[in-house]
Amino acid sequence: MAQDSMQGSLKERGVRLTRQRQILLELIDKTGEHLDAERLYQMAKEKDPKLNRVTVYRTLKMLKLGGLVDELDLMHYGGDQHYYETRLKQEHAHVICLRCGKVEEFFGDPLQKLRKQIESHFGFQVLLARTEVGGYCAHCQTLRAREVEVARVAPVTPPKRARRAAARRP
Ligand SMILES: [Zn+2]
Ligand SMILES: [Zn+2]
Repeated sequence: MAQDSMQGSLKERGVRLTRQRQILLELIDKTGEHLDAERLYQMAKEKDPKLNRVTVYRTLKMLKLGGLVDELDLMHYGGDQHYYETRLKQEHAHVICLRCGKVEEFFGDPLQKLRKQIESHFGFQVLLARTEVGGYCAHCQTLRAREVEVARVAPVTPPKRARRAAARRP
C-alpha cells in the first residue's frame, strides 16, 4: 500500500473513531445511568446506523483506557456484564439491590475520609477507588418478607408418592 493511501485510511479511521468516541461519551454522560455495552450499542446505533457491535465494544475499551469512563461490574448482578459511567461525576459508592438490580449512588464525605485514611495508613497513593455495596432495597425487603411468609403457610408440595398415599386415605 502506498504511503499516502495508508495515511489516508488511518486518518479516515481516526476520524471515524473520534465520531464513535463522541457518540458513546455523549450517551454515557447524558443518561447518567449505568449502561451495559449492549444497551449502549443499541442506543449508539440509533444515532449512527453504521455502527457495529465490535466497534462499539472496542471504543468503550479505549474510553476506559483513556480514563474517560469507568467500567463497573456492579456485583455481577447481571452476570459477566460490565457497565459504563462517566468519570466526570464526583466519587461515589454503588449500592446495588441483588433482587431487582436497582443501583443507587451514595456520595458523601465518608468515601473521601476512607481514601485519606488508606493513604496515610499504607503511605499509599490512591488513584481510583471503587466501592460497591450489595443487599436488598426497601421494596425488595417487603417482597422478600412476604415470600418467606407464603412459603411458611403453604409448604413445598410433598413428593408424588406421599400425595398418592394421602389420596388413598379415606
Ligand atoms: Zn430491590
Ligand atoms: Zn455511578
